Amino acid sequence: MTGSHETNESQASALCRACGLCCTGHLFIWVKLRPRELDPAEALGMTVFRSDPTQRGFSQPCPLWKGDCTIHASAHYPRACLAYQCKLLKEVIAEKTALPAAVDIIQQARGLIRELEPLLPGLPNPNFRERLVARIEHPQRFTELADSEAEFQRKAGDLLAFYARVFGVNDLLEKM
Ligand code: SF4
Repeated sequence: MTGSHETNESQASALCRACGLCCTGHLFIWVKLRPRELDPAEALGMTVFRSDPTQRGFSQPCPLWKGDCTIHASAHYPRACLAYQCKLLKEVIAEKTALPAAVDIIQQARGLIRELEPLLPGLPNPNFRERLVARIEHPQRFTELADSEAEFQRKAGDLLAFYARVFGVNDLLEKM
């Protein structure tokens, strides 16, 4: 590994530690696991689902995110987590975006999320993205929120456009 690569790697880690949105349920609803990863993930406390062979994985928010991934160096670190790089992270690694600018962008994302949070339904599942999808796809189920529909549509549109432009995440039901 060259010195330049080491610098890029450490900037990438710093960005991921400053963010975590791909672990906390703000970007994704679930993460795919390989069959041999299912039991270890469950033993680690992840909520694993496996009945549909085409959709085996764990639900977000991931309980192993504690301001950093607590199993990053473990043999049980999921391959999907190892492989995933959002668009912003790729830009930092390629030195197209400087780390301080990228951290500012994360703060902008957090601001948009904070504005949207009070407009989301309080479902048993705490996943932000899942609650966002629920209100977008089934507004009639949340009549108690009807007064804020126009505000919700505008803010949800802003956040989803931001997700697509900055993180490269387009699909509402996208998995990591
Ligand atoms: S295992 Fe680590 S990288 Fe993967 S979702 Fe959980 S905290 Fe994030």
